[in-house]
Amino acid sequence: MSLKNPVSFIEAARSNGAAIASFNIHDLEMFAAVVETAAEERAPVIIQQTPTAQVHAGAEYIGAMAEAASKMYDIPIALHCDHFTDYDRIVRSIECGYNSVMIDASKLPYDENVALVRRVVEHAHARGVAVEGELGRIGGTEDTMTVDERSATFTDPEEAAAFVAATGIDTLAVAIGTAHGEYKGEPDLDFERLSAIRERVSVPLVLHGASGVPDWQIREALKRGVAKINIATELKIPMANAIKACFAADPSESDPRKYMGAAKKAVKEVVRAKIRLCGANGLADKL
Ligand SMILES: [Zn+2]
Repeated sequence: MSLKNPVSFIEAARSNGAAIASFNIHDLEMFAAVVETAAEERAPVIIQQTPTAQVHAGAEYIGAMAEAASKMYDIPIALHCDHFTDYDRIVRSIECGYNSVMIDASKLPYDENVALVRRVVEHAHARGVAVEGELGRIGGTEDTMTVDERSATFTDPEEAAAFVAATGIDTLAVAIGTAHGEYKGEPDLDFERLSAIRERVSVPLVLHGASGVPDWQIREALKRGVAKINIATELKIPMANAIKACFAADPSESDPRKYMGAAKKAVKEVVRAKIRLCGANGLADKL
């Protein structure tokens, strides 16, 4: 198998009442932890990177790793650009093998957002690459972008319908009360708004900032049309904690296989739990 356009398996997840978990990765260990676990769970999976994570790891390396993983494992795998804002970097990422891209033009005025997304869609679709757009602004900090509470705006259902029609995007990220990063209190998702968007928009919906959202709220979101869930923060914290615990136990440890091995194990546990929460385990055998 080579990398697979994720739209087909996101749609399949939706028709099975499930969602595809999409994991933000920074390096080889995280990458391997995600795909190995997805393969064990027979779950289609999306690996994604923010712009600075991509710079950190190298787009060529990650593109080649994803291509290799797609041949090693008999599950659908897609490689996605998360919150990219720059047209040229999207073009370059596609050249490196990324087969799904999010163009986040949500800070632009509506008409400019539509124009930029439309341009990305034309380039991407001509190459069989999927496009995710965002309408409304998701709060919190993702990569170098911070949206404070006052600037965060929820997705307007009517505008969402017009936006999808005008841009031709494949999936839509919605702002319904999730935030990037760690939550201070329990998030309170606006499910009525989600249902209203669902009624007006036919493409699958994407939930960002899903780390730290209680399981029951994720399940409810799935029932109301969310078919892709983004997980970033919940991988980073256990990974860092596992490494810290290694050095706390033995400050003289210098074998990367020990501390990175522990990190990988911690990441795998979270990946498995999220795949199961999304009901994506076993989905690769139903496609
Ligand atoms: Zn996001």
